[in-house]
Amino acid sequence: MKKGVAMQLSERAAIVSAIVDGNFHVYPAGKLMELIKKACSGDRLDADFDRAKTVEKIKKISLSQFDADTKAILEDDLAALCKILAEMDAEYDFEGEIEAITSKLPPLADLYFGIKNFKSEPVKMVGYYFEGYNDLYKNSDWYAFNVDPVESAQMKVPVATYYKRSWIMPFSTPHSIIHENIHQMQALSITPKGEHRYVPWFDEGMADVVSLMMFYKITNDRKRFFKIKKFMSEVEVLAARKATYAYAFRLFGRLINMAGWPFFRALAEIYGKYYFDVDLNVLADGIMQGFEPRDLIGRTYKGAEKKAFEREFAEIEKKHLKSGGVEEKDMEVLNIFAVMQPPAAVSAAEYRAALWFNEQVTKFSEKHLVKIELNKLQPVKDFSGEARNKIAGFNEKIVVLEKDIPADVKAGAEELGNKYFAVKSEIGGKVIFDAWFGGLPFRLGCGEIRCELNL
Ligand SMILES: [Zn+2]
Repeated sequence: MKKGVAMQLSERAAIVSAIVDGNFHVYPAGKLMELIKKACSGDRLDADFDRAKTVEKIKKISLSQFDADTKAILEDDLAALCKILAEMDAEYDFEGEIEAITSKLPPLADLYFGIKNFKSEPVKMVGYYFEGYNDLYKNSDWYAFNVDPVESAQMKVPVATYYKRSWIMPFSTPHSIIHENIHQMQALSITPKGEHRYVPWFDEGMADVVSLMMFYKITNDRKRFFKIKKFMSEVEVLAARKATYAYAFRLFGRLINMAGWPFFRALAEIYGKYYFDVDLNVLADGIMQGFEPRDLIGRTYKGAEKKAFEREFAEIEKKHLKSGGVEEKDMEVLNIFAVMQPPAAVSAAEYRAALWFNEQVTKFSEKHLVKIELNKLQPVKDFSGEARNKIAGFNEKIVVLEKDIPADVKAGAEELGNKYFAVKSEIGGKVIFDAWFGGLPFRLGCGEIRCELNL
């Protein structure tokens, strides 16, 4: 690919980019892509993204196998997806972005890992792994792969960072190129020459956490953070191996949050020195249980002289107190990513009823009633516009009469009642549903509840 010549996004990359750009009912929204793949009889969506053609493909999808509730939710979500795709830029200057990011890495490699004159490995874009070098890995669906010298010998492919073309997405490329470069920094500054022991929580946790910190330092781009977060929680969560990265992220984040960067530098140094005598699982397990990492150091050493090991570690840590690295701005990254709680996924019937309740109680429909005081209901139409605007308190709010609930959302409404999402009670001899009382409009508004999708 010539420098400065934009590449075309694949359909898959475009759909994932649209998923992280929008707000969808279905959780995780990545299931929408699985639905599209399945509906298009196993289409891997590797072809070039073409706005009109891709939107057409999605619009043709039949939803007849789903129940009425799921169908209604999916129609809404697919329409929202098509709307974003119809306006999406199909081209991306991948090579330009790679160059812009990697040119900023040498001073950061020095600051964080003490590596002088860091040089990124070349980047190769492949249609499949490892096209042109070794077809043994043809069906692998990795996004990006940094082949280090040890892997190069084992897998018989040149040392480089490989990107699968159909997985290249503008929002994630800068972070992922730094992630792959951190694996190179690890090989240069921690791993003994010729060794390769893959400890996912440590290797991937470090690569993910530190790459986000470096990315923030280089770009100050918070918008892409939000997309990366959404990618993790809405798309990657569906792939088992990628879901383990979230575990790695939490563990490594907690390690430096509790013990600090000089502790990490000391750990990296002593781990490199006693590579096969340091058990990182002791550390992971202890941190997960809430122990202070520094208190676990002696136990990570498999040799007999635990006290001598602890003393040596303390000396190394003291030396690293003077090194640079993670500072307050970096720690902000951990805070940004700390707010990542999966929502409660309710059935399509409940979710649809929730949307219906929400619409009724927020639109001040004539049909619905205001509970102005206990045991008294009054129609909304009896209130002047000004009085309606004041409806907010315990005794003045919009409720829904049970008899007004349409048949197609009745069963879902009952379930919401059982879950205290909409509270059922009796006033003046009439059964009512109170969605405000159960906090339902807030649950929908802040994404606490979403719709589950079984494909
Ligand atoms: Zn990695």
